[in-house]
Amino acid sequence: MNDFRYRNGRLYCEDVPLEKIGSAVGTPFYVYSHATLKRHFRVFDGAFSGLPHLTCFAVKSNSNIAILRLFIEEGGGVDIVSGGELYRALKAGVDPEKVVYSGVGKKAEEIEFALEAGILMFNVESGQELDAIAACAKRTGKRAGVALRINPDVDAETHPHISTGLKENKFGIDIEKSLEAYRRARTLENIDVIGVSCHIGSQVTKTSPFVDALKRLKKLLGRLEEEGFVIRYLDLGGGLGITYKDETPPEPAEYAAALMAFARDLPYTLIFEPGRVLVGNAGALVTKVLYRKNTDEKDFVIVDAGMNDLIRPSLYDSYHRILPVAERERVEIVADVVGPICESGDYLAKNRKLPGVDQGELIAVMSAGAYGFSMSSNYNSRPRVAEVLVRDDRFYVIRERETYEDLVRGERIPEFHM
Ligand SMILES: *Cc1c(COP(=O)(O)O)cnc(C)c1O
Repeated sequence: MNDFRYRNGRLYCEDVPLEKIGSAVGTPFYVYSHATLKRHFRVFDGAFSGLPHLTCFAVKSNSNIAILRLFIEEGGGVDIVSGGELYRALKAGVDPEKVVYSGVGKKAEEIEFALEAGILMFNVESGQELDAIAACAKRTGKRAGVALRINPDVDAETHPHISTGLKENKFGIDIEKSLEAYRRARTLENIDVIGVSCHIGSQVTKTSPFVDALKRLKKLLGRLEEEGFVIRYLDLGGGLGITYKDETPPEPAEYAAALMAFARDLPYTLIFEPGRVLVGNAGALVTKVLYRKNTDEKDFVIVDAGMNDLIRPSLYDSYHRILPVAERERVEIVADVVGPICESGDYLAKNRKLPGVDQGELIAVMSAGAYGFSMSSNYNSRPRVAEVLVRDDRFYVIRERETYEDLVRGERIPEFHM
């Protein structure tokens, strides 16, 4: 459920018509609903209320500090994958003891930054990384809490680019070799082995892959206990899918029930790293129709947002619903909705049936709250767009539109050209 709906023929986010935001901040812009974000967090986190747990929002899905703050105020932690994300989360006021750090390529500077900040744990993805963390911890005189990220070799049955729990993927430590890795971790100075973690992929629309992964981890946990390890955290990652078109992912309550059936008696604090399910349907990208153009083959709707603003359709061939911001009687067309970027892969929708929108109108690209702005770039030297948070009948610019000056910040022409 989200808070975008038509009222008297105008598309609203909560109590604010999107047209009004467009007039104030220009287009394109991302818009998020505060009420939807808060509700999504409470529904997800509340689904596990019977168990000790921590919901760590996956910052990479939407990194704006205003959004991070909202989840932090709700009691959430964060899952980070870089020093930059840690910086953002600290800015937003996160309790460092609610930070878990994932990712296959953590650099020494980033590890040190995380140790200085005092994060809860590193989800370690390789033996060499473990050594690097131990070395950094020793150098800085800190102790590092670690979980090994296990690759459980389960098929998340999602898009190959966002599937992470198969042997062939670069993520995690092979479950078969994990016991050995744990034994070695225990011998390292400055390392506290406190967790087991996994993350099998994204936009997963069934409970069974999560349950399969949990079952495999439970076996490992049994062995670890036998060997005297004191594991405190079981991190089951993120990945719960959402409805973009006609997918029917489990509700958080259903997902929680399926997992709790196997995790209820475990003596660990469960950690979850949801991203998409919290923010995906809480946001939209609003863009203006610049031109309509027909060729013999095709109808094109050319808009002012491109693949640099929302890359998911180009990258994953993903579907986003498109709604005109003004609802009225129209003829239906079949068109490609494309951006201004000089690439044929620059589209927001292909062969899409949609209401015949006119030049100058605004359209909303729905379900764009996750992996939308956070994956945006300046390609074609396009300033990144504004982000707006709506709360009740007010809206707040939570990231200003970039300027041309922002585009060249930090660039220099060398002296020999002066
Ligand atoms: C991307 C990612 C997540 C979040 O995935 P969603 O599908 O957005 O829930 C969680 N944990 C890790 C390690 C990730 O890489």
